[in-house]
Amino acid sequence: MSDNRPTTSDYEYLDENGIDIELKCAICRQPFLSPVSLTICGHTFCKQCIKTWFIRAPTCPTCRQYAISYVKRDNRLVQTFPYVAINIRVVTNQLDRLLVRCLLCDETNIQRCHWQIHQKRCAKRRVICPAADLKCLWEGTRETLSAHLNTCTYYQMQPAINELKNELTTVQVIQNELKNSVTMLEKKVEFLLKFINHGQIMMASCSESENDCRYNTINDLHHVWRFLCSICNEYVPRDQIQLHACSGNCICRSCVYSQYSDHRQINELLS
Ligand SMILES: [Zn+2]
Ligand SMILES: [Zn+2]
Ligand SMILES: [Zn+2]
Ligand SMILES: [Zn+2]
Ligand SMILES: [Zn+2]
Ligand SMILES: [Zn+2]
Repeated sequence: MSDNRPTTSDYEYLDENGIDIELKCAICRQPFLSPVSLTICGHTFCKQCIKTWFIRAPTCPTCRQYAISYVKRDNRLVQTFPYVAINIRVVTNQLDRLLVRCLLCDETNIQRCHWQIHQKRCAKRRVICPAADLKCLWEGTRETLSAHLNTCTYYQMQPAINELKNELTTVQVIQNELKNSVTMLEKKVEFLLKFINHGQIMMASCSESENDCRYNTINDLHHVWRFLCSICNEYVPRDQIQLHACSGNCICRSCVYSQYSDHRQINELLS
């Protein structure tokens, strides 16, 4: 067996030397797995093998041609290694029909295309407990799993715990909704307190004679005066002020409208 064999495959080929050299990858020396061929030279490798290869070298492992090309993406050049998947039926069929032997359970004459099915039921394959997410640390072969499950408290508790988890998620959703409502109400209260303005309720127009109003900008020839909005704490020009108390504070238009998006509510507030 070659040392380059992907560690994920726990099988070996029957009659490895009898397999056509044309079906073997020059990198791992094994029959192709998901073969791809480089567009620049047509040489074929396992997809995973060539991807790993290009991390270290920019050239074709067989003919040493420079295999990188550059494409423009979002105005910068990005490296690509163009290759295409080999989907030719005669090739993929030959690969699919190669016979392998499971190194774990010794079952033999498994067609390679059925390897994943075998893996899922191989008695000697190492599996973890289905309750591993509940911190059951058990690990063992599939054939010993059912004996473990009979004694695993985590596994037996799993349905009940999952139900609680679901309930918890629901509670968290409700909690977030409540939090949002509370924040909204807090904002509304803060707005109304500012609006009431220690008894000097703000209005859209002057409540006293305009001449005595500190928001009267008749002498502001260059329109430079700014007034502090009680809600957003920003300095805004007179024409941006929606509510004011002549000798007191003010609230800017955007604060009023963001609090009362409904125009009827604003009219009510202003009346
Ligand atoms: Zn390979
Ligand atoms: Zn090549
Ligand atoms: Zn097996
Ligand atoms: Zn367990
Ligand atoms: Zn005023
Ligand atoms: Zn404001």
